[in-house]
Amino acid sequence: MSKNNCIFCKIANGEIPSSTLYEDEDFRVFLDLNPAARGHALLVPKKHFENLFELDDELCKKAMVLAKRLAGQMKEALDCDGFNLMQNNGETAGQTVFHFHLHLIPRYKGDMAGITWNQGKASPEELEELAALLRKK
Ligand code: 5GP
Ligand code: ZN
Repeated sequence: MSKNNCIFCKIANGEIPSSTLYEDEDFRVFLDLNPAARGHALLVPKKHFENLFELDDELCKKAMVLAKRLAGQMKEALDCDGFNLMQNNGETAGQTVFHFHLHLIPRYKGDMAGITWNQGKASPEELEELAALLRKK
């Protein structure tokens, strides 16, 4: 499965070159062109899935196991101080390339990656009401 004009289909399948650090039959992992921090990489399935909701379950499991292994190797090679795994779904959530991908982002003390959000406030009652709503699904 590959989608015409999807940049990550083309990169994952080698039609467009990338700085690849890992490849197997299901995935390619390559360096992000606009890194948030040194070593920022993208883990991309070779088949086209628009987002997490569409992603095949088996590939989802494999992606997380692979991300764990590569994060460990990258941490050792780069001597970073921390590590973010990120994954955006939908424009509102910051997705700009609509082919599922996991961001692997090494973090360094004092870096300017700025991966954060504003913390809200919720009462225990509000949280309980929301949890009840979500349990119904
Ligand atoms: P998103 O915002 O969808 O979660 O992440 C898309 C990421 O893909 C961005 O961090 C962006 O820098 C990266 N990106 C977009 N186009 C290319 C490309 O052609 N090559 C590489 N290596 N990265 C890309
Ligand atoms: Zn694609």
